Amino acid sequence: MKALLPLFVFIDACGWEILKNDPFVRDVAPCRKRLSSVFGYSSACVPSILSGRWPQDHYNWSYFIYDPPGSPFRFLRPLRWLPRSLTSRRIFRRWLSRLLKRRLNFRGYFDLYNMPFEHISLFDFTEKRSPLRPGGMNCGLNIFDHLEQDGIPYHVSAPEKPEESNLAALLQDIRTERVDFAFLYWPGLDGLLHQVGNRSPAIAPKLDQYEKWIRSLRAAAAEHYTELRLYVFSDHGMANCDELLDLKKRVDTLRLRLPQDYAVVYDSTMARFWFAHQGACQAVTRLLESVPQGRIVPDEELKALGAFFPDRRFGELIFLVEEGVLIVPSHMGERPIRAMHGYHPEAPHSYAALCTNQPEIPPGVNAIPHMFQLMLRDARLAHQRNRARLEPALSAA
Ligand SMILES: [Zn+2]
Repeated sequence: MKALLPLFVFIDACGWEILKNDPFVRDVAPCRKRLSSVFGYSSACVPSILSGRWPQDHYNWSYFIYDPPGSPFRFLRPLRWLPRSLTSRRIFRRWLSRLLKRRLNFRGYFDLYNMPFEHISLFDFTEKRSPLRPGGMNCGLNIFDHLEQDGIPYHVSAPEKPEESNLAALLQDIRTERVDFAFLYWPGLDGLLHQVGNRSPAIAPKLDQYEKWIRSLRAAAAEHYTELRLYVFSDHGMANCDELLDLKKRVDTLRLRLPQDYAVVYDSTMARFWFAHQGACQAVTRLLESVPQGRIVPDEELKALGAFFPDRRFGELIFLVEEGVLIVPSHMGERPIRAMHGYHPEAPHSYAALCTNQPEIPPGVNAIPHMFQLMLRDARLAHQRNRARLEPALSAA
């Protein structure tokens, strides 16, 4: 039997608004707190949790950036001649994304989403490594680099595998007492919420299922570790999308040429622009100022949000829509979805949550990057205690 297991259960999109009035894990992790999220999508939030830093320090922010010389997608240009009825289909895009991921040796999450083949050779993809592995950050270290450096045996989920497989793999590692730290990643709720929205009756059964799984982890840990430190937490919440905005149609009325005048990535809640000359910048700025569903985020605000990049690699101008507005069609999707995240971190549904069986959450832990401190602190403590228990046994033998 080992002394201590810190178990971090990361449930994507299980935000504060979903949990605050819900009994979810209240009996096994009664101490709960609202956490501020990070501006951006999971591509920004997950690396921030795993590194303890904000996007402007680790450079994992949005997936696609304008970078013609760096683009690995040039060979896809001939696909622009295929009919849109085929190339805009999710099933086709998913199949092609899987193929590309292998060919380009990308190790993180990769999806072509709805990026147009006509312009794909102008863009690069920024998550070529997996933030869930050592060496996975674009800049600096993550928790797994630290664990490897310290020689701490750990468990981490394989996000490409089903949730049940990841649960089974962790149960196995607990039963063999192999690890001193565990990070479990469940993305299923995020996908469900995108589809059905945050008020759907389909959410309660999903949370019940998670709760049952967490109970089975607790039961297994109780047989093999004297103490379990349980943390159930998320990266952001989810807002219902009640208003659709065809921003591309509006911008196209300017008759600017791509890339001679400008380049743009339409994410679902923001549009990121790069300009070839001042005239294009002025025209786009004027147009965006007349769109009431969103606003241009000033540099000062981006700095305060930890998402300002001096080299402007993620966009020279960032337009962000109000919570509940969905940019559609976008480069993320051709058709509307019921709910989305990636709004301003202070929008009500952006907040993440942390629930724990620990008597208190340190006062300094109030945003998702702070989860890193808890992870590193508990992993080191567990390693120390588990080794101290092992060593007398070894010296007696
Ligand atoms: Zn999502």
